[in-house]
Amino acid sequence: MTAGEVSPREESRLETNDVQTLISEIAIRERGKELAQEIGKDYDGQPLTIVGVLTGSLVFLADLTRQLSIPHRIGVLQASSYRGATTVPGSLHVSLDLAPDLEGRHVLLLDDILDTGQTLSTLVEEVKRLGPLSVRTVVLLRKLGRQAVPLEPDYCGFEIPDVFVVGYGLDYNDEFRHLPFLAGLDPEDIARHCRR
Ligand code: 5GP
Ligand code: MG
Repeated sequence: MTAGEVSPREESRLETNDVQTLISEIAIRERGKELAQEIGKDYDGQPLTIVGVLTGSLVFLADLTRQLSIPHRIGVLQASSYRGATTVPGSLHVSLDLAPDLEGRHVLLLDDILDTGQTLSTLVEEVKRLGPLSVRTVVLLRKLGRQAVPLEPDYCGFEIPDVFVVGYGLDYNDEFRHLPFLAGLDPEDIARHCRR
């Protein structure tokens, strides 16, 4: 690449100049390393399956599992609770069709963000019915001041203020998932985006 050319990484930032970085790629990687060490210590010698919640947790799932040095299996299940930038309580749709066999396994449910807590608390109960040895949770983000359903995540990457976040797997209308960092979208930015 010659001087003045834009790298693919910079290009994606220019395309998405409506967003402000909330947590950098480096900070995510460093925190991921810490979480992987903690999880590795806790589950050493145990039959562990990490189950990611599609679609928002995909990038976190891929990065965290590659930072984890103990043997483990990976699975996914589906849950969706919102359209656009709003979470609608009570509208959660869960599908376990893609879930692997979890009998005799310790399950670590992995999600992108704990907001009201509805998704994860529902999923914990659903997964328990599949006969695992235990179910615990890990979230990349926890939004402060939003939780309506009591659930303490066993592992949490970052606590963040009540802003709508995109990037690193999280979307707004299925866009922005590819950003390698986490960004906040403020309501004016969302409105501008919608007018395009
Ligand atoms: P909860 O059920 O805890 O209210 O919501 C969890 C789900 O809502 C997350 O898995 C995520 O899909 C979605 N969600 C909540 N807050 C945000 C946010 O700020 N940005 C994005 N992209 N999704 C969010
Ligand atoms: Mg989700």
